[in-house]
Amino acid sequence: MKMYKKDTQFTLTRDIMRLFFALNFYLLAKVLGIEFEFESEYIVLGSILLFGPLFCGWFCPFGASSYFMTRIGNALFPKLQFTIPQPYDRLLRNLKYVMLAGFMYLFISQGVNYFAEHMEMYKTSAFSWNYIKFKHWAVLFIPLFIPGFFCKYLCFQKAGYNIINKLLPFAKITRDSEKCIGCKKCDRVCPMDISISKQEQVNGNDCLGCYSCLDSDVCPKKADALSLSYLGKKVHYTYFVFGVLTLYLIATYFVLFVFEW
Ligand code: SF4
Ligand code: SF4
Repeated sequence: MKMYKKDTQFTLTRDIMRLFFALNFYLLAKVLGIEFEFESEYIVLGSILLFGPLFCGWFCPFGASSYFMTRIGNALFPKLQFTIPQPYDRLLRNLKYVMLAGFMYLFISQGVNYFAEHMEMYKTSAFSWNYIKFKHWAVLFIPLFIPGFFCKYLCFQKAGYNIINKLLPFAKITRDSEKCIGCKKCDRVCPMDISISKQEQVNGNDCLGCYSCLDSDVCPKKADALSLSYLGKKVHYTYFVFGVLTLYLIATYFVLFVFEW
């Protein structure tokens, strides 16, 4: 049995913000029927390029749905929680890179612009159409029993973001091995099951940019071994997150007002 990650003192705040951004997306896209796929995908890509993986941990509606289903699953079915054991977990995490290669092939061979024609792209083959149908199960049903299933194994966008963040590590979490006392508290709060306590740096390896590992009640004060840096300078993650979230909202609504309304 695998219970969800340990909460930190900011889990509730983080959950409320995540819910807000997911509802914001559903309000715009599903309730108001605003289609700003082209522009929004560029905003997502821009945020990943400039600020690291924050999109995944804060804004992504699929990631949020998966996360909240996991929380519900933990509350309702505590005896039916599973994780995929090693080495299968490690192997399966590579699946999303294979899918990324497959979808890249589709974009190029079919001449489909991923940014402009999302749904058209999925309709170009039986495989991609089945993928999008399965995605709803992978986001809404499977995470009730297997935490983070979709983000870890099937999200080909996450594979692309990982590669970008590896190549452009503007924002990264660093573990000072001199100060670390090996308590593994950071590992226990990471929703992607990243072994932070064994790495010198976390960037581009499935990190969602949620920064739960940096919450003040995680790394013991006497160690204080984890930090976030942006462009080589240490930053406090709350200011960083607040700045990026604000920019993201402004960019989204600017695009809506200028291009859609
Ligand atoms: S490494 Fe830290 S920031 Fe990244 S997903 Fe895990 S807890 Fe969140
Ligand atoms: S919580 Fe801090 S001290 Fe403990 S293993 Fe992680 S980095 Fe090291």
